[in-house]
Amino acid sequence: MNPYAWIENSLTTIHRADWYRAVKTIQSSSGATVLLDGREVINFASNDYLGLAGDIRLIQAATTAIQNFGTGSTGSRLLSGHRELHSDLEIAIASLKQTEDAVVFSSGYLANLGAISALVGKRDLVLSDQYNHSSLKNGAILSGASLIDYPHCDVEALKNQLRQHRKNYRRCLIITDSVFSMDGDLCPLPFLLDLAEEFSCMLLVDEAHATGVMGKNGAGCVEYFGCTVRELIQIGTLSKALGSLGGYVAGSSSLIDFLRNRAATWIYTTALSPADTAAALAAINIVKEEPQRRAKLWGNVQYLKELIEARLPNLQLLPSESPIICFQLASAGEALKAGEILKDAGIFAPAIRPPTVPTSRIRISLMASHERVHIERLVDALVDVSLSIAT
Ligand SMILES: *Cc1c(COP(=O)(O)O)cnc(C)c1O
Repeated sequence: MNPYAWIENSLTTIHRADWYRAVKTIQSSSGATVLLDGREVINFASNDYLGLAGDIRLIQAATTAIQNFGTGSTGSRLLSGHRELHSDLEIAIASLKQTEDAVVFSSGYLANLGAISALVGKRDLVLSDQYNHSSLKNGAILSGASLIDYPHCDVEALKNQLRQHRKNYRRCLIITDSVFSMDGDLCPLPFLLDLAEEFSCMLLVDEAHATGVMGKNGAGCVEYFGCTVRELIQIGTLSKALGSLGGYVAGSSSLIDFLRNRAATWIYTTALSPADTAAALAAINIVKEEPQRRAKLWGNVQYLKELIEARLPNLQLLPSESPIICFQLASAGEALKAGEILKDAGIFAPAIRPPTVPTSRIRISLMASHERVHIERLVDALVDVSLSIAT
């Protein structure tokens, strides 16, 4: 018997469930409109919230860094991979987040795997929101700690789990997205911090979709909720609002110092490239200096919500307090159909299906670079969807 035959069978099962996925080719620079399969579409599928991934200043910073330092960083940070650019970026992140220090990883995924598996082990407990991002869940699994999911954003249920289980473990870590990436709602951060304090737990919050977007200065949900002075562990990515590639952890200097000595996904991997590092640094300066980008983004969120309320009062929107706006569909097949109708109308907003999420949906993400007319075209297309599919 062919030991690889199961792979074909497994693919067939994936197809049958309408769960099959394949890449889509974007043939242009990042922006409010992109060329998709040879056709210009309005882009509601991007995490480039502030429109920085195509910004000339990031492009110039990256180009200059390549000219000065080459394309590759050639080694891990502790061997030959470290440049002054890395320190500059870490200082800028810590300054934005108002933490003592920060450390950059090669991706946000690696930041979560490395931080969680360094902070807890076999004798410890991880409590994880059931809707957390894959990188948080897999970080917890990699750590070898006991792992319990708590119902989404349910502070009472979490408290009961802590009452029941906390005493049986050495350390305890609560992990959560701050903006939930496939829903758009926010974690109840102040309450989670109170529980962490009451039960002597660490709290790790993933600000991937919040950095640059939430809070007066774009520092994220920690700033938005007024929790900057409280002790916690902040994770994030350089690849969403910051328009580059890479991840980070921000927190106390002892935490960061510890991770530089214990986080395997930082120690045993090649340092972030000079181009990515320089682009992210330029982006953080823009986040600080151009609050008008954030204002435009939130104006767009407001406008879309108003239009939907006026024209599609029955659309089943998931609760959202972010630029991520989702509406639910009855099945993966219907979500795919809705995605196709939108695509035919020149709108790029993907169907998100299991196993990424428990229920199928269309996910819309707004950017500062969208104009009102883009949002109006989106709502026109959503009206078409609602006429073709019972949403
Ligand atoms: C995107 C994302 C990540 C991964 O970040 P990358 O830098 O793309 O690896 C981690 N956590 C959350 C919540 C995310 O949305």
